[in-house]
Amino acid sequence: MANQGGEKETITISCPFYSEEHTYTLKVTRSQTLGLISAEYSGENQRPKRVVRLFTCPTKNETFQVTLTLWEFPSEPINSVEVEK
Ligand SMILES: [Zn+2]
Repeated sequence: MANQGGEKETITISCPFYSEEHTYTLKVTRSQTLGLISAEYSGENQRPKRVVRLFTCPTKNETFQVTLTLWEFPSEPINSVEVEK
């Protein structure tokens, strides 16, 4: 399985301070499944998971809070979401 060290996801967020957009990298860690067949092929439907994280505007150097919607398979739930600086 490929998710050993967590996977990187790139997101773009509209800045609340200026009319600009910033790109951030998230490190998403999911629980490992014990089965041999990955969730993608078992017919499961992904479900949304909402997480709230703080981001820093590189222009104004102020933090703001964003609610993100990530998708997970029920058998591979998301454990942690970190924002990479
Ligand atoms: Zn900004």
